Amino acid sequence: MEILDPIPIDLDAEAIREELHVKRTGAWDLFQSAFEIAKDSIAAKAAYVIQYVEARSDHGVMIGGVCFNSRVLRKNLEHVERVFPYAATIGPGLEERADQVNDLLEKYYLDAVGNIALMQARKFLEETLRSRFALNGLSFMSPGSLKDWPIEEQRPLFSFLEGVDHSIGVRLTETCIMIPWKSVSGIYFPTGITFYNCQLCPRDRCVGRKAPYSSELAGTYGIGQH
Ligand code: SF4
Repeated sequence: MEILDPIPIDLDAEAIREELHVKRTGAWDLFQSAFEIAKDSIAAKAAYVIQYVEARSDHGVMIGGVCFNSRVLRKNLEHVERVFPYAATIGPGLEERADQVNDLLEKYYLDAVGNIALMQARKFLEETLRSRFALNGLSFMSPGSLKDWPIEEQRPLFSFLEGVDHSIGVRLTETCIMIPWKSVSGIYFPTGITFYNCQLCPRDRCVGRKAPYSSELAGTYGIGQH
């Protein structure tokens, strides 16, 4: 297992302030203080392994001797041999600080800065994979992000990441939730055209949406609205 530790995180207070629509009056001081707390509490790390697609069925794919049940993953890996199961986190520090805060707005700011840092950590991992393995296009999928690939599939995914609890401090609960909460996991795979889970997810008003929903594309994956 390869470990990336530490991952540099570059947080721009002004850009985040604008993204969160914080006015220079009112909540400005609260935001500034939450931003400083968040910056000091983040310790981003990631782990990944290299695995190979071994077999495909109508409903899933076998990777490194482990079966995954997802038609979308199976289709995305149709012409792929090598994949990169991963986990990334910003550590438990920010959550611990947020637990000590009572102000809901301050909690919201801490959470928002944490999410931005976590996306940076995953991007750093992606760029590392891109340069280490001379890959042009890379996409990822995560268990639990689509009905087609339920969260229980975190278990087979984490079977590739043995020791990840000790190396980067990420573990799975019995209900397949990652601790620390500000963690992400999934499988990166090479692609010609970038794939986003959001293209197959019809959820309305999601602030995290990265691409529009396409019923046409969902149809090509054999999944309809859900
Ligand atoms: S639209 Fe939102 S809920 Fe749906 S996959 Fe994208 S980020 Fe996740």
